[in-house]
Amino acid sequence: MKNKDTIIYEAHGNLYLNITNRCTADCVFCIKRYSDGVYGYNLRLSKEPSLSEIIKELSEQELSKYNEVVFTGMGEPLVRLDVVLEISKWLKIRGIPVRLDTIGHAKLLYPERDVSVELADSGIKTVSISLNAHNANTYNQLCDPRYIHAYEKMLEFAKDVSKSGMELRFTVVNLPVVDIDKCKKIAKEYCADFKVRSYSASS
Ligand code: SF4
Repeated sequence: MKNKDTIIYEAHGNLYLNITNRCTADCVFCIKRYSDGVYGYNLRLSKEPSLSEIIKELSEQELSKYNEVVFTGMGEPLVRLDVVLEISKWLKIRGIPVRLDTIGHAKLLYPERDVSVELADSGIKTVSISLNAHNANTYNQLCDPRYIHAYEKMLEFAKDVSKSGMELRFTVVNLPVVDIDKCKKIAKEYCADFKVRSYSASS
């Protein structure tokens, strides 16, 4: 595995951004429990990259060769909402599609802000939310969220995402305690795309 402090890495024709290791959950399947990163990239950050450091690294990439730029990595991007917004605006000007992968606790992190509208205005095209479970109890067991009512608030945020005109996707990890069919139904109710991730590929 390469050196730590990877901010940008590529895989599957996409360019991925790793802007923080902080998170509002502590999932049992989190990659940081059993690895330093993915695809041979070490995603441990000795310090969070500044906005200008991230933009500098992005400027050095040939962005047009990627399908999309994705906020993901080993942490929850929305703990740095203002950085996400600025990078997204920078990419929007250059016509690059942007996706955000999130645990979906935006309404709890920023109760006074309309995060989905801000994300849509910044140019985010797709929001992929880690649904992770078919009910709150299972969600709490698997994800140990920092907040109470995190599951319900995540679902409220998902509604906001669709209302704001962004594409919505739900993901779940294929674990025995997760009722995949029920999760699929929830995704249908929310008119969301649905993706099942394997345990080893989760991040
Ligand atoms: S899997 Fe994602 S949401 Fe869960 S603890 Fe890890 S970084 Fe946070």
